[in-house]
Amino acid sequence: MQVVHYPNPVLRGGGKPVESFGKELETLAADMLATMYESSGVGLAAPQVGLAMNLLVLNPTGETTDRTDELVLVNPRILERKKIEYGQEGCLSFPGIYAEVERHKQIVVAYQDVTGKAIERKLGDFLARIVQHELDHLNGVLFVDRLSPADRLRVRTSLERLEERWRAGA
Ligand code: ZN
Repeated sequence: MQVVHYPNPVLRGGGKPVESFGKELETLAADMLATMYESSGVGLAAPQVGLAMNLLVLNPTGETTDRTDELVLVNPRILERKKIEYGQEGCLSFPGIYAEVERHKQIVVAYQDVTGKAIERKLGDFLARIVQHELDHLNGVLFVDRLSPADRLRVRTSLERLEERWRAGA
């Protein structure tokens, strides 16, 4: 599995509802987690590996040795949002770019696991931030869309560099 970089149009396509559960989906999620760990990420959404599916994986430690909070979310949606906070974010599809993004500090998320079981969880802080970032991917929204005008200006050159690389077919 390979992580696609901005401005690959699949990133704007987002995901579609997952309707088929079981072994195949479980394998796919495991492959995405392996790809995430290899890339030293803490979260990965299916569109980032070229799959138009509402599926995301995450682990706030980013470490294979600590999988306590590792999560696979199928068809996630946020039911409740509370409190706003700013925090630094990066994205595997935007190598080398980091910026402050406004997110909710507490969320309640409803999703299914790989077997199709419905789950509801209250998440906070970094875990909540990752879910919001990855869920944006499922809607074709990218973290650079959420930057302040000053930050947008600051990362412009880096974005143009990625665009050039994309045009060059790299
Ligand atoms: Zn991302």
